[in-house]
Amino acid sequence: MPLAPVDDAFVATLAAQLPDGTLRPTEPRYLEEPRGRWTGTARHLALPRTAQEVATIVRACAAAGVGIVPYGGGTGLVGGQIAPAEMVEPLILSLERMNAIRGVYAEESVLIAEAGAILADVQAAAANVDRLFPLSLAAEGSARIGGVLGTNAGGVNVLRYGNARDLVLGLEAVLPDGQIWNGLKRLRKDNTGYDLRHLLVGAEGTLGVITAAALKLSPVPAGHGTALMVVESPAAALTLLSMARSQMGEAISAFEIMNRMGLEFLAEKVPDVRQPFADKPEWMVLIDVGLARGLDPAEALETLFAEALEAGLVSDGVIAQSEAQAQEFWSVRERIPEANRMIGAVSSHDISVPLGALPDFIARGYEVIGALGAFRINCFGHLGDGNLHYNIFPVAGRSRADHDPQRDAIKRALHDLCHEMGGSVSAEHGIGRLKVGDLERYGDPVKLGAMRAIKAALDPAGIMNPGAVLRLA
Ligand SMILES: Cc1cc2nc3c(=O)[nH]c(=O)nc-3n(C[C@H](O)[C@H](O)[C@H](O)COP(=O)(O)OP(=O)(O)OC[C@H]3O[C@@H](n4cnc5c(N)ncnc54)[C@H](O)[C@@H]3O)c2cc1C
Repeated sequence: MPLAPVDDAFVATLAAQLPDGTLRPTEPRYLEEPRGRWTGTARHLALPRTAQEVATIVRACAAAGVGIVPYGGGTGLVGGQIAPAEMVEPLILSLERMNAIRGVYAEESVLIAEAGAILADVQAAAANVDRLFPLSLAAEGSARIGGVLGTNAGGVNVLRYGNARDLVLGLEAVLPDGQIWNGLKRLRKDNTGYDLRHLLVGAEGTLGVITAAALKLSPVPAGHGTALMVVESPAAALTLLSMARSQMGEAISAFEIMNRMGLEFLAEKVPDVRQPFADKPEWMVLIDVGLARGLDPAEALETLFAEALEAGLVSDGVIAQSEAQAQEFWSVRERIPEANRMIGAVSSHDISVPLGALPDFIARGYEVIGALGAFRINCFGHLGDGNLHYNIFPVAGRSRADHDPQRDAIKRALHDLCHEMGGSVSAEHGIGRLKVGDLERYGDPVKLGAMRAIKAALDPAGIMNPGAVLRLA
């Protein structure tokens, strides 16, 4: 059955079942996304305060065949949270009022947060009891737990602590028929059949609405160290990572690579970011370590640097002498996306390849793009996870719009290369609306068939985030 648009009669009937002010007209901020690629047109927004209210809303939508677009902090980079004009008008369902920390179990290292809790607030609640919620990304001041789990976000600490998926012990969610699934367990072991948690995490709102989550916390490392090291090449960076792991084991929480182009973009567009080296190096890595009591992180990083220098892997480096300096190093990495946006990418890619294939991918990527014309490439990202943000920009004096006709060819060429090398065309941002075609092109057909079967079983009317992740027949 085709979806029905939200109309006045539907709004009036649903409003009568909810507290005043739960349904209201949308505001522009719910219709925009960070890169300005889509503009939403939905006119109605629901702001529930409880899982029961979410269930009432979902039941009404299921009965009327109205689509629902779950909304967290609106920071998603693949358009999953935006309902564009070509959609039958859906209801936007924002979880922002469900932002309570329902419980902190310090001895269990578990925290229960509602889906609308802001990621930075969850980190702070964990820190209050001397625990760490390690998921960290530049949008953490706005992104909410429901969105972070909905997209299975990655961020800068995946190397040590895993993706969002690895940090969730239990979920409470409203399924597409309006039933509340109470799976909010704090168990580390629970082998009782199919794990719905892992279906909903990363489903980008297409299989239900996450309303709360039991999250796994970690000990706060006693000592924290940060260093920037100039490496000869991506291959040298990989060898350095391997050396660092041999020396420090799991203590390495972040291992990020940056290219000279990123530093040049920062110098041009965000000059308040302090350049770490007098001469901008071709490649450098940012290393973050957290060590147990009794071990000195700065000393550990110095030992690594000395050994790497001897092996010819690094040629320069700085080790942060204070937390403020560590923040300064991190701002180099975290403000590259801001500079990128100001330059204006022709095409951006969030890819991953097996670690060993990474240097080859970078080199072949330059060739593939070079064959399509003159471009600037800013390749940076989570090297330790094999995840690169491989972004293509016009040369100075030309604009993104000049290359509009080439955008598809560029994306196709890079994604083909990534696929050929056993990689993923969406490492951490998800599929959303941006990459539906890519999933169809590169996804394993058996997996796609199983995904469609799961979607049909849980959401036969197709009301949950229509058009995101899967195009239904
Ligand atoms: C500056 C910047 C840096 C970023 N860095 C990273 C990074 O390092 N790593 C990374 O992985 N991502 C990164 N992102 C992308 C983004 O922050 C993440 O995808 C984040 O997890 C989205 O959370 P959100 O609350 O903003 O979700 P939204 O954008 O609101 O929604 C994202 C998706 O989740 C669905 N959703 C939202 N809430 C729920 C819910 N309660 N139940 C079910 N589905 C729901 C939406 O329908 C949508 O499909 C970055 C974004 C920005 C702007």
